[in-house]
Amino acid sequence: MKIMKVKFWGVRGSIPTPLTFSNYKSSLLKILEIAASKDITSHEKRLSFINELSLEKTNLIGGNTTCIQIENENSMLIFDMGSGIRELGYSLEKKINNKELNELHIFLTHTHYDHISGFPFFLPAYNKDVTINFYSVHKNLLSSLEAHQDFRFFPVLLGNMASNKIFHQLIPDEIIEVNNFQITNKELHHPGKSFAYRIEAGNKSVVLATDAEYINMSIEQIKSYLKFYNQTDLLIFDAQYSFDEEIQKIDWGHSSALYGLDISINAEVKKLALFHHAPDRSDDQICELLNTALIYKKSNYPDSTLEVFLARESAIIEI
Ligand SMILES: [Zn+2]
Ligand SMILES: [Zn+2]
Repeated sequence: MKIMKVKFWGVRGSIPTPLTFSNYKSSLLKILEIAASKDITSHEKRLSFINELSLEKTNLIGGNTTCIQIENENSMLIFDMGSGIRELGYSLEKKINNKELNELHIFLTHTHYDHISGFPFFLPAYNKDVTINFYSVHKNLLSSLEAHQDFRFFPVLLGNMASNKIFHQLIPDEIIEVNNFQITNKELHHPGKSFAYRIEAGNKSVVLATDAEYINMSIEQIKSYLKFYNQTDLLIFDAQYSFDEEIQKIDWGHSSALYGLDISINAEVKKLALFHHAPDRSDDQICELLNTALIYKKSNYPDSTLEVFLARESAIIEI
């Protein structure tokens, strides 16, 4: 059975959120508490302790905005170009320089800053041997990216980035094939619209549904989403808000972990990744939202096998 790998390069919403000193201290304290019962008396022992430490234990979430890499065997897709795409670009350099990679495929959910602001810092875009295919349901992606890199805002114009750029206009709900992936899209409720993508290969599937609000949670109103997310192996879900904020911020275009849970259970999703974390929330507070969601799941769906976790920068999920 072929494995699909999903790597999170950016998981925050709205604006890049560098680690604050107080967040750093809080994570450090958690790590020291674990270290207190371990033998870390030599450099080697400390190194192996650090290498074995899981992301969850550190409480770190990551501050880059949305960018996700999905790959299997020898093909790869990129979703969104938030600040996380900068590091992704560096990770591709070796393959590009060795001529093992010369074509990239980037899908855009929409063009709000947090989903495109990393592109001017994406090193492969400056390489004349690289072709970048852009896919977007929103029209005029080329002119939107040109405007974003107008001289008043950035010193390098889009047209002066040496890579070859091809723009593919997607039609709502259409199914396309890229290498061995099948990709379809669905409109989401968000200011200016956002589009979810369902990515399938073999018998595996991932749905990225970010920047989405569900105004009415009656089954009738959400049934088209349930169909699109149905039985996916991994649903990456906009959980920017707490439940209270979700109720108050009508038409702000985001959702919460609890809505994500209800939708995932009804759509028979296997894994739910809470994504697009609020920049104003500390890493500890984001972990608290997960705890609340897990309590909600235990009391409302005690028999459910749904796996719920926080999307964390640099995490790789294999399905
Ligand atoms: Zn966003
Ligand atoms: Zn947005």
